[in-house]
Amino acid sequence: MSDGLKMVVLLKQVPDTSSKAGVNPDGTVDRARAKKMLNPFDKYALQKALEVKRAVGGEVIAVTMGPPPAISVLSDALEYGADTGYLLTDRRLAASDTLSTAFALHKAIIYIGSDVDMVFTGLQTTDGDTAQTGPQIAERLDMPQITYCDRLEMKDGKALVRRVVEGGHQDLEIPLPALITVANSATPLEPKRFAAVYKVRELSRDKGAYDEKIKTVNLDDIDVDPAKTGLAGSPTVVGKTWKMGDIGGTCVMFQGGAPEHEVEQLVERLTTDERGIEELIQ
Ligand SMILES: Cc1cc2nc3c(=O)[nH]c(=O)nc-3n(C[C@H](O)[C@H](O)[C@H](O)COP(=O)(O)OP(=O)(O)OC[C@H]3O[C@@H](n4cnc5c(N)ncnc54)[C@H](O)[C@@H]3O)c2cc1C
Repeated sequence: MSDGLKMVVLLKQVPDTSSKAGVNPDGTVDRARAKKMLNPFDKYALQKALEVKRAVGGEVIAVTMGPPPAISVLSDALEYGADTGYLLTDRRLAASDTLSTAFALHKAIIYIGSDVDMVFTGLQTTDGDTAQTGPQIAERLDMPQITYCDRLEMKDGKALVRRVVEGGHQDLEIPLPALITVANSATPLEPKRFAAVYKVRELSRDKGAYDEKIKTVNLDDIDVDPAKTGLAGSPTVVGKTWKMGDIGGTCVMFQGGAPEHEVEQLVERLTTDERGIEELIQ
């Protein structure tokens, strides 16, 4: 136990689509063969938790749900400065949609403790890309949720949060506990501060430096009914996936003038082009 805030940060391991490994010719990803990485959006969430820890003290607990190799995002998190990690892994989680992922992760947070003050998530992932998991977990935990946070300061036990909204910002003062999804306009993750410490300990007789900080749990540990996860607990049906072809066409920019003038130019172009408006807007 430590003084200060108890913060959980949710980190997901995703396929590295910048690498060709595991990408099938039709564009689908073979998750087993793909190179893996920490979801880039989650780096902002980790940074925010580490900043709060630096400002007011406390502990940062990294949590991931995934197959056993996903543990590497937790060792990474330790090297960045997280205090401990939890890997939720269980074959019965396979084929989970966002509803059942959020269900399992909210139970993992309850397992970590009823005294969690803040849960940080990324905005979205680079694979599933739904941005649903954070808000669904907040609902399950009955915690207020603040999405698109890019600045956060603690004052008198409350969080002063700046949210990115269309055309500007929104400032909020929120009591804790709360779940916060962090925007990618927030501070980028600083370099790993503790990598050398862990590497040296691993190379020395003091092996298991990561293991002693990371706990692996399954559905039974966190008291999840398997019927609520995996295929059984996932109402989402993926009807069809396909690779988008080249949609072609040309792009004409109207710029450099007042918006009214640009709109006039656009209307003129659409109404005078000999192909006719029907074909132009196809
Ligand atoms: C029908 C269906 C079947 C699926 N089957 C599988 C499958 O078999 N295997 C599989 O890997 N995926 C599967 N998925 C994808 C899986 O449901 C999503 O990856 C997962 O629900 C998270 O959603 P997302 O990627 O859109 O995350 P988002 O909602 O975009 O993520 C928002 C944030 O939530 C947090 N987060 C999300 N997921 C995790 C996680 N696992 N651990 C920790 N933090 C997390 C991160 O902080 C992230 O930035 C399936 C999806 C569907 C619809």
